Amino acid sequence: MPEKPYDHIQIELKWHERWQDADFYKAEENSAKPKFYVLEMLPYPSGMLHIGHIRNYSIGDALARYKWMQGFNVLHPMGWDAFGLPAENAAIKNNRPPREWTLENIAAMKKTHRRFAFSYDWDREVSTCEPEYYRWNQWFFLKMLERGLAYRKRALVNWCTKCATVLANEQVVDGCCWRHEDTPVEQRALEQWFLKITDYADELLDDMERLEGGWPERVLTMQRNWIGRSEGTEVDFHLDGTGEPIRVFTTRVDTIYGATCVILAPEHPLTEGLLDADLKAKAKAMVDSRAGRDPGDIDKEGLFTGRYAVIRTAAKRSPSGSQTSS
Ligand SMILES: [Zn+2]
Repeated sequence: MPEKPYDHIQIELKWHERWQDADFYKAEENSAKPKFYVLEMLPYPSGMLHIGHIRNYSIGDALARYKWMQGFNVLHPMGWDAFGLPAENAAIKNNRPPREWTLENIAAMKKTHRRFAFSYDWDREVSTCEPEYYRWNQWFFLKMLERGLAYRKRALVNWCTKCATVLANEQVVDGCCWRHEDTPVEQRALEQWFLKITDYADELLDDMERLEGGWPERVLTMQRNWIGRSEGTEVDFHLDGTGEPIRVFTTRVDTIYGATCVILAPEHPLTEGLLDADLKAKAKAMVDSRAGRDPGDIDKEGLFTGRYAVIRTAAKRSPSGSQTSS
């Protein structure tokens, strides 16, 4: 008798359908069970899930199932990181409206996702490009604004004169606009929004003590560096002649009298007033040449402004404390 071939697709689809209808993975509301929340990450809807996604989501899936078996009320949702620049760029590249493009990709990826039969509560699906989702981002932003945690400040941005818009670092290719390969990107000082995360530096550092489970020292160091707290002193140098202060931060104030020069960034607010037209043009070229480049890849160059900085002691102005400026 001929053996019946093993038709894995048919078997998978049969069980897939049953699992889908059974609602196994719904998070319960008002449950007395202890809660457990598993969120891997929301994929960007590029149109296709790849093997890296499967690896990532398999780990979360295993954890969620383990917690269910331990009696937890597990919330294991899925969604789409669908808002902003990547979606905009993909739409420009493919010459399609961003919404259409994004929603089509989401539908295609969701189909694949469901075939993996991961344990998601699809009733909780979110798409970050939908107003129902991003209204909460806006609400958070307003809360931060009320508390003084969101503020505006002038900062340098990548600017393409042809696009007449700001470019992300990723959109700068070899110093030129990614859409206009012959147009060098300029650095322009524009008002930007900032979030004052420095207010939380102490709290973040202190709470690292509470991390459980033996985090590798390498990861802890990275985290400390990212928080970036540094303890030191702010010292004012003064511009010789006008007395205008130049504030610097140092962790080694005891070495301050060994300083040989004060270096101002070309975009420092004081710099412009110190330079003649020729030096201004050179400074602008220096700033523009940094567009989209990693700070580590930039050759350091300096220009002598012809001006001097002095350091004042509390008692009297230091007679020989002139510092060259470059
Ligand atoms: Zn451009």
